[in-house]
Amino acid sequence: MKKLTLLIPIYNESRNMRALAEAVTPLINNRLTSEKYDWEVLLVNDGSTDTSLAAMAALHAADSRFQYLDLSRNFGKENAMLAGLDFASGDAVIIMDADLQDPVEVIPEMIRQWEDGYDDVYGRRRSRGKESALRRKLSLTFYGLLQKFTRIDILPNVGDFRLLDRICVNALRQMRENQRYTKGLFCWIGFNKKEVLFDRNDRPGGKSSFSYRSLFNLAIDGITSFTTVPLRLASVMGLFTAMCSIMYLCYVLVRTLLYGDPVAGFPTIMCVMLFLGGCQLIALGIIGEYIARIFTETKQRPPYLVKSLNGKRLDR
Ligand code: UDP
Ligand code: MG
Repeated sequence: MKKLTLLIPIYNESRNMRALAEAVTPLINNRLTSEKYDWEVLLVNDGSTDTSLAAMAALHAADSRFQYLDLSRNFGKENAMLAGLDFASGDAVIIMDADLQDPVEVIPEMIRQWEDGYDDVYGRRRSRGKESALRRKLSLTFYGLLQKFTRIDILPNVGDFRLLDRICVNALRQMRENQRYTKGLFCWIGFNKKEVLFDRNDRPGGKSSFSYRSLFNLAIDGITSFTTVPLRLASVMGLFTAMCSIMYLCYVLVRTLLYGDPVAGFPTIMCVMLFLGGCQLIALGIIGEYIARIFTETKQRPPYLVKSLNGKRLDR
C-alpha cells in the first residue's frame, strides 16, 4: 500500500492545535483515502516557545500515525519544511500550514490529480483570505518583479500548500542551501505540475508570524537566490552614468573653447558628486547582498538541527 505524508511545520500554534487535529483526523480516517493509503502526519516543531510541543506529544500518544519532529530551535518555516521532507517516508508529501488557512477539503482533489500522474499538485488561491490591501499589493508587485527578472516562472498566489510526489521530494532534498526560497525551488525543479484552486481561509487563532520586515527579507532572499539581474542592473547603471558624463565632458570642452572658462558651477559639481556617490553605494550594496549569500552558503552549515523524533532524542 502506498503511503501519504501530511507535513505541517509548526511554530507557536498552540491555539490552533486542537482545530488542526479536528480537521486532519477525518481526512486520514476518510474511507476513500484511508483504504487506499497509509497515512503519516509529520508535525515539525520549529522551536515553538508555547505548549505546541506538548500538544503534538499528546496527538502522537493517541494515534501513532501522528509523528512529531522537534528542531533544536526556530529555523524558520523554509528550513522546517526541508526537515520535514527529509524525515517524511511517504510516496507523496502534502505540505500544509498549521493555522488551517489551507483548507483540508482540497487535499482529496490533490490526491486524485496525483493518481492521474501529476507530480506536483499545487494549490492556487482564488482569494487570499483576510489581509491588508497594502500587503496584498506589495506581494503581487514582488511576484511581478521576480517574474520579469528570472527565467523560471514563479507563480503568484501559489504558496507552499501542495502535494509532491517522491520524485519532487528527492529533488528538493538535494538543494541544501541555507537561505531557502522554497516557493522558487518548487518552480525550479519542474516535473508535471497541476493546479488546484482553493479559497484561503482567515487565520482562526494567533497572528501571522510573517511581519512586513520578514516578508521584505524573504523577498530579498527570493531575488538574490534566483537571479543575478540586480548585478547586471548595477553595471548598466554604471555604463549609463559614464556615458552621460562623457557627453557632458564634450559639452564643457566645446563651451570652454568657444566662450572661455568663467569659474562657476559649484552646485553642478555637488549634484554630480552626490549622484555618483549614491549610484556607487547602491551598486556596492547589491554586490554586498550576493557576497553575504556566498559567505553564509560557503560555511556549509546544516540548514536545521533535530533534537528529537517522537520524543526520542536523535543522537549518534
Ligand atoms: N512557521 C514555522 N516557522 C516559523 C514561522 C512559521 O514553522 O518560523 C509555520 C507556522 O506555524 C504555520 C506556517 O509556517 O504553520 C505558516 O505561518 P503563518 O501562518 O505565520 O504565515 P502566513 O500564513 O501568514 O504566510
Ligand atoms: Mg498562515
